[in-house]
Amino acid sequence: MLHIQGLLKAVSELVPNAEHRMCARHIYAHWRKIHTDKELQKKWWGCAKAPNRILFNYNRARLAQDTPQGAQDMMKTSPEHWSRAFFRLGSNCDSVDNNLCESFNNCIMDARFFPVISMNEAIRKKLMVRIQENRARAEKWTGTICPNIFKKLKVNIIRSGKCDVLWNGDDGFEVQVKETHRFIVSLEQRTCSCRYWQLSGLPCCHAISCIYKASKVLDEFIAPCSLCQSTIKCMLMSCSQLRAQPIGQFLICQGQNLQVLSRCQVGPKLREGGSLVRHQRGQSLAGLAQRLLAGCVENQLTMQEGVQRTQKQAKKRMHI
Ligand SMILES: [Zn+2]
Repeated sequence: MLHIQGLLKAVSELVPNAEHRMCARHIYAHWRKIHTDKELQKKWWGCAKAPNRILFNYNRARLAQDTPQGAQDMMKTSPEHWSRAFFRLGSNCDSVDNNLCESFNNCIMDARFFPVISMNEAIRKKLMVRIQENRARAEKWTGTICPNIFKKLKVNIIRSGKCDVLWNGDDGFEVQVKETHRFIVSLEQRTCSCRYWQLSGLPCCHAISCIYKASKVLDEFIAPCSLCQSTIKCMLMSCSQLRAQPIGQFLICQGQNLQVLSRCQVGPKLREGGSLVRHQRGQSLAGLAQRLLAGCVENQLTMQEGVQRTQKQAKKRMHI
């Protein structure tokens, strides 16, 4: 646990305003090593997914009935970092696991074995293709809500059938679920006392039952980031950020012949003779080419120097 504590401290010092969440799936996998009973799994996840502290305490008490030691051990793992009950509002994200990062990590698995520059280049290309493919898919969507979000919403719509609503005719809604749970909903402020609506940006089953009771349209109560239009707009913006880059990092001049080359193409090309210059980030390629042709580039490398330098860098990478 020590390394996790160090990480928590470092992150809170470096980015004091960022919320630090931990993956509940990994915390559970660790906890399960001691408390192996499969019956406890559902109750543990009840604590992770409880949207408010009252429900968290309720689920913790149920867990403690079966395993008092297990509940104590769970509290030692800092639930404020992995349970929804303690998450800050405003991010419209209720995710308790790390699946988003894990799938990204899996997608860049091949690229991770490259040296740093090639790795970044491979990731950039992958992102460019992926965003374009997703955008093409998104443009075929019909309706106003993104399909995956709509699937989540459908579950809440079905659950809303079991809610009993009391309405005062204005903005006062009281929702009774089973005999034991009662929630207060305000459609004007877009809040439910269960806190799920504020946390995820999606109306919970209690809010949905109130929206239907007041004969309003459900789409109007969903956070803008979950709508198709916003998603497509966001992808368009990302596409414009990920512009195609010239692959060459070196310019080679052979007589009046000028070519842009990537690092791996430089070696074989240099054997044919000519002079080489490195294209620095932010430098104008056309301007550099003109100066190279005119023979007035300050940091121009001779052929031999270029070969030596690439050999040295290759050795460094191989740790020779
Ligand atoms: Zn609710």
